[in-house]
Amino acid sequence: MLSLPLRYEAAMVLSGAGDALGYKNGSWEFCHNGKDILKELKSLGGIKALNVKLPEWMVSDDTVMHLATAEALTEKSGKNCDKGELYKTIAEKYKACMKDMGGRAPGMTCSNSVHDLKPNRSKWEDGCRIDFNHRGGGCGAAMRAMCIGLRYPREEDLPDLLAVSIESGRMTHHHPTGYLGSLAAALFTAYAIQGIPPKKWGAGLMGVLPQAKKYIIEQDFYVKENLEAWDYFEDRWRKYLKKKELLDGTKDPKPDKLKEDERDKFYKELSFSGWGGSSGHDAPMIAYDAILQSGKKWKELCKRAMFHGGDSDSTGVIAACCYGAMYGYEGVPEGNYKNLEYHDRLVKQSYLLYELAYGSEHKEGVSGEKEQRTEEEKGKTKTQGKPMDEGDPVNKDNNSSNTEDYQSQKDDDQVKKSKVDDEQDENQSEEKYEVQIEKDEVQSEETGKVQSANDEVPSQKDEIPVDTEQKATLEEGTPV
Ligand SMILES: [Mg+2]
Repeated sequence: MLSLPLRYEAAMVLSGAGDALGYKNGSWEFCHNGKDILKELKSLGGIKALNVKLPEWMVSDDTVMHLATAEALTEKSGKNCDKGELYKTIAEKYKACMKDMGGRAPGMTCSNSVHDLKPNRSKWEDGCRIDFNHRGGGCGAAMRAMCIGLRYPREEDLPDLLAVSIESGRMTHHHPTGYLGSLAAALFTAYAIQGIPPKKWGAGLMGVLPQAKKYIIEQDFYVKENLEAWDYFEDRWRKYLKKKELLDGTKDPKPDKLKEDERDKFYKELSFSGWGGSSGHDAPMIAYDAILQSGKKWKELCKRAMFHGGDSDSTGVIAACCYGAMYGYEGVPEGNYKNLEYHDRLVKQSYLLYELAYGSEHKEGVSGEKEQRTEEEKGKTKTQGKPMDEGDPVNKDNNSSNTEDYQSQKDDDQVKKSKVDDEQDENQSEEKYEVQIEKDEVQSEETGKVQSANDEVPSQKDEIPVDTEQKATLEEGTPV
């Protein structure tokens, strides 16, 4: 069984990989034809041949803002921390991270809203909240919220997960379609950590929405506007789950057997404006659909969540995070994540999030997988476990026995991982949903059509073609 710390690490690191793969320095995020993306992928040697690193594979705004959320949580969400202080820190991080958006195509709604945040006001409500925005239904809140599920992973943490995902979400996307996307991304990640089967996640979300509505009413801030705009998110999710026969979460998902162009069409149907995954409701929905259809097959997940004609970095960042939270790095080619930009920052945050969520319990031996380890393994940890090396991304302040356990578990998992990789490769051809994109002749990066970071990419989503411009917009009550 994979250790929880490793799943935390994979969740954070693969979220960045999913973002970078879907983004491809802008050229794949803004490509509207999944077939063209898969054709180019083939020319690059397939997913196994991809070395996701700078300068060809920058992470986009999704990962920069996800890291900002995570770094705020790990600074200010400890036991004695006040929520107001946390919200101020999130707002500070969102403002600061805007300096790191060159070439990463941030959304217009995020950029504009962050500008208005004033975290230095004494009351957080005065500086960390913005007016209701009738056009704030984009996916910018959803794409950065998965780490909230890692911080608050358990059922009893739900009130915290709900409040933090909504308040951080509506710092930029004060519209239910926007911030409920944040709630969905955080909730699905928490479900993945809990080991809840994906077929139950959609029904779980529907069960949590009344609590979210109650929270909004209790907060007494633009209640009327929020309630008037509330139904779109819920209706779209109910319609999707009904179509997939997942409303009660008991049936296994049916394989959809869609070809690339049919899948693009299906994602478009789910969308608000024709760009699948660009809104708060459909970014987590497409990620969820990809998870349901792919199971433990990374390559299939990539095809469905990162290589399609919609907003592929935002669906990729969510889907890949949940994959890592469930399966660790199983079946993921090392080149897809090992040299990823901000890899070490992501690893560090995963460790700190894990410590905040579970650390004290493990120290007390109350729960978690450490209990399941044998005395022999514990002995091994004492002799083989070593403090983090110089330059290790993990905070050296945490070089306690816990840190040693963590490192040791990672080492064990690494061995298991390579075995699983081999087995998975052998089994791949027998799987129902055959991945057709990887068995092509391997072409080296040097000869492949890898885009240089110097190539022109849109710096803002408002500079992209007209039909994709609506990413961050959703007008209240407008039918799809
Ligand atoms: Mg992006």
